[in-house]
Amino acid sequence: PLVLGIETSCDETGVGIVRGHTLLADAVASSVEEHARFGGVVPEVASRAHLEAMVPTIRRALKDAGVAASDLDGIAVTAGPGLAGALLVGVSAAKAYAYALGKPLYGVNHLASHICVDQLEHGALPEPTMALLVSGGHSSLLLTTDITSDVRPLGSTIDDAAGEAFDKVARVLGLGFPGGPAVDRYARDGDPKAIRFPRGLTGPRDPVYDFSFSGLKTAVARWVEERRREGADVPIADVAASFQEAVTDVLTRKAIRACKDHGVEHLMIGGGVAANSRLRAMAQRRCADAGIELRVPRPKLCTDNGAMVAALGAEMVARGRSASDWDLPADSSLPVTEPHVPGRTPA
Ligand code: ATP
Ligand code: MG
Ligand code: FE
Repeated sequence: PLVLGIETSCDETGVGIVRGHTLLADAVASSVEEHARFGGVVPEVASRAHLEAMVPTIRRALKDAGVAASDLDGIAVTAGPGLAGALLVGVSAAKAYAYALGKPLYGVNHLASHICVDQLEHGALPEPTMALLVSGGHSSLLLTTDITSDVRPLGSTIDDAAGEAFDKVARVLGLGFPGGPAVDRYARDGDPKAIRFPRGLTGPRDPVYDFSFSGLKTAVARWVEERRREGADVPIADVAASFQEAVTDVLTRKAIRACKDHGVEHLMIGGGVAANSRLRAMAQRRCADAGIELRVPRPKLCTDNGAMVAALGAEMVARGRSASDWDLPADSSLPVTEPHVPGRTPA
């Protein structure tokens, strides 16, 4: 199926076009620079930026893909979770296009899309697949046997998301916003063993599949403050590398443990933090040692984009899932257990 996907859950206006598992276009307009001076995403600014970028980004995707809108089999859109106003822009645009073109509308889950996008990289997701979803707002271990209908959470963060920790540590180090890519860059020149930062929830009595990153974030901030108080230089690269090591150590350890416990042979890592170079390298090594197949999409497909939404939409069409109703709501707290939003009116 030929599907166009629209993503507006945060600060990226993404429009992607796929044919089944083949990526045809991935147009992204980001308002990240408008948020940088505030040190975080400002919802009202994001909504306005989506409104301005929507039509040009759709046009660009259609042009890049070289397809006519009339040939589409469906329009998919992120129905949640995310910023309410931002989601509403995407959902409204998707409804307008789908209605005008006479195409079915598919409201899909942003988190399931972060997983499904791997089909564009490595083909059909094996069933079952273990997914480690690590992004700006989420850090979870999810077991899926069908990405359109069955996503089971095994555990998640009890405080900060992994991406949030990257962003906060970057702020402490004065690296700007968004922090993940900057920490990744600085860490390349640092020693990951320079400072032993705490690994949250890895004690013998701790929950096995849950994460905690707020203690780590605080430990990094304290360590840096202490150095500054002493008037010493802060070794930014070493702090970045040591922090990154602590995060990736816990994420990969728990993900592999989850695979082993559940007899699952395929681990998918998705979400913005999956773009992290150290996480990718460590997961590669540890999965190889454990005999687990690792699937991580290229970095551009890990951060928010429209292709991931199109990928999940195409899977909905391929599996004959029902289209969404025209009253499809934007749901800022849509649970990960609902990959597909069929609408409120019973068929
Ligand atoms: P969610 O998907 O939970 O709704 P989101 O959509 O805002 O949140 P994503 O775009 O999926 O999040 O990911 C953004 C996060 O990924 C940010 O916290 C950012 O710092 C982080 N990130 C991006 N690139 C890297 C990287 N190379 N290393 C570490 N973190 C990264
Ligand atoms: Mg973003
Ligand atoms: Fe995301």
